[in-house]
Amino acid sequence: MSALMPTYARLPVTFSHGEGVYLFDTEGRRYLDGLSGIAVNGLGHAHPAVTRTIREQADKLVHASNLYGIAPQEQLAERLVELTDMENCFFGNSGAEANEAAIKLARLHGHNRGVEKPAIIVLEGAFHGRTLATLSATGNRKIQAGFEPLVSGFVRAPRNDAEAIRQIAANNPDVVAFLAEPVQGEGGVYPLDRDYLQAVRQICTEQGWLMMLDEVQTGNGRTGTWFAYQDLGFTPDVVTTAKGLGNGVPIGACLARGDAAALFGPGHHGSTYGGNPLVCSVALTVIETIASENLMSNATKMGALIREIIHGKTKSSGRLVETRGKGLMLGFQLDRDCPELVARALEAGLLINVTSGNTVRLLPPLLISESEATELANGVAELILGL
Ligand SMILES: *Cc1c(COP(=O)(O)O)cnc(C)c1O
Repeated sequence: MSALMPTYARLPVTFSHGEGVYLFDTEGRRYLDGLSGIAVNGLGHAHPAVTRTIREQADKLVHASNLYGIAPQEQLAERLVELTDMENCFFGNSGAEANEAAIKLARLHGHNRGVEKPAIIVLEGAFHGRTLATLSATGNRKIQAGFEPLVSGFVRAPRNDAEAIRQIAANNPDVVAFLAEPVQGEGGVYPLDRDYLQAVRQICTEQGWLMMLDEVQTGNGRTGTWFAYQDLGFTPDVVTTAKGLGNGVPIGACLARGDAAALFGPGHHGSTYGGNPLVCSVALTVIETIASENLMSNATKMGALIREIIHGKTKSSGRLVETRGKGLMLGFQLDRDCPELVARALEAGLLINVTSGNTVRLLPPLLISESEATELANGVAELILGL
């Protein structure tokens, strides 16, 4: 471990393998995975369809280059376009890269409109990644501190305040786009209001701004629909995603429609690995499996079950202040800070996360069964009661 730059405060456990919703450590202990590697392993661990695709594709071709045609990349783009209201797609290797592509689209859009210093509205509490542009877009000083000068061209707004967006529209002619997560993840699992997002959509249309949604965490079935916006009654211009798309192979995607889909031309953007044959064939399998195993409706059902159990068991204690989230993206805000719960959960054989100091965050695999969801919820409820 000492040869690693200490960018993570790691828990004292190392996993050797997994199966379904369970992970096994090097001592052979079993853990119920309530986090899915932060919303990545929607299909759990060692899913046979994913493993088969990795093997078969590795036998054929892992990497060629974006200098040539890549059949699985074209198929994946077609599939994503079919599932959304988008028209085309750029592939990178991570969520941050997907957002970098979106930020570059917004800047091109601005320059095409004669705006010399185009700016993007971003929200308080947002998380968009750790590259310089995406950490500048992120609404968390801790993530930015020490890395100044930040990338300019971002305007911060409070969440769920449509009036603030109208004010910016009236006063800042440099703004060309809006970027937000439909449910803020790292910021503490805060869903944005439907009315708010619909109002922002309307303002974006009136102003000719790109409405861009960061669905890196909310996408790929996590909230009960392919993308969270599909349950909100409007269509954005740009959608980014990553995490659950690859079930653990590195892939990120930036999808666009309308004017936004016509911005990038040859030489505007690129990535050596982005969308290689291996990751794209795995992502195609992930999408087919989510569809064929009805995992989106499972996410909705199991999310409701977990909420109900945790509520029921902790109600009389008064410790649970608020439950937030959608589908299997859940935040349970307690009446006190509870960072110690992560280590206690580990002792109890559960993998959970705590964000914003006082919010227990659960992101279990989309294929979690009723009995596994019950086991997870009972375990978390006990941990909350034992605080
Ligand atoms: C995780 C996350 C990112 C960053 O993704 P990386 O793959 O770590 O670069 C960006 N946006 C959101 C909403 C995320 O949850």
